[in-house]
Amino acid sequence: MTAEERAEKLRDLQALDQQLQAAEARLRGFEPALAEVEEPARSVEREIQTLRDRLKDLKVEERRLERSADEKRARARLLQERLKTVRNLREEAAAQAELDLVRKALDGYEQEALMLLEQIRKVEERLSELEGALESVWKEVEANRARLLDERRAAEEELAVLASKRENQALRIAPQDLKLYERVRAGGRSVVVATLTPDGACGQCYNMVPLQIQNEIRAGKVLISCEACGVLLAPAKGV
Ligand SMILES: [Zn+2]
Repeated sequence: MTAEERAEKLRDLQALDQQLQAAEARLRGFEPALAEVEEPARSVEREIQTLRDRLKDLKVEERRLERSADEKRARARLLQERLKTVRNLREEAAAQAELDLVRKALDGYEQEALMLLEQIRKVEERLSELEGALESVWKEVEANRARLLDERRAAEEELAVLASKRENQALRIAPQDLKLYERVRAGGRSVVVATLTPDGACGQCYNMVPLQIQNEIRAGKVLISCEACGVLLAPAKGV
């Protein structure tokens, strides 16, 4: 096997390793997406709960207001009766003054009750809107989950195919070259093999390679690491 052929096989291995790395990253990307797939439905459910709590509070408030208004109405009836039986102007003035106050308070309660009923109506409207939408939001969530799971399965299959291609490619490489390749790659780098440029620089970091070493690389006797960045330097094709 010529040095050129050896380098070519290593480059093919490197291409597969890069594809594997990308496929693994794609696969990992599904985890956060799957973890968050329910969020749109959960968010609608949270809003529904908040509105239900609010509605409960508003209705308590409405009942309280209703009771106060009832008390004032009863008091107003009593005062009206009293006005029919007053014995003198002083008593009449006192009853009338209280009646005016009670009616004023009653007006206030009624206005407050109207605003409250309007608030209740709006909350109920929004609530029924959300409750009506919830089912379709969950359906959408399930569809998205199914699609993500399908895509993840496809990504897993792709990864398995690449892994087996990689295994086959590794078998075609001379053991000492493979060992060298794995050693350089163990540093966590994705570029392991680079081509010597025509003017004698490393194709990865572009540091100039000493002339003596350039000659050895071009002669193709050995695979040599770049002194600066550590990649294996291969002669350019057809050089
Ligand atoms: Zn280099």
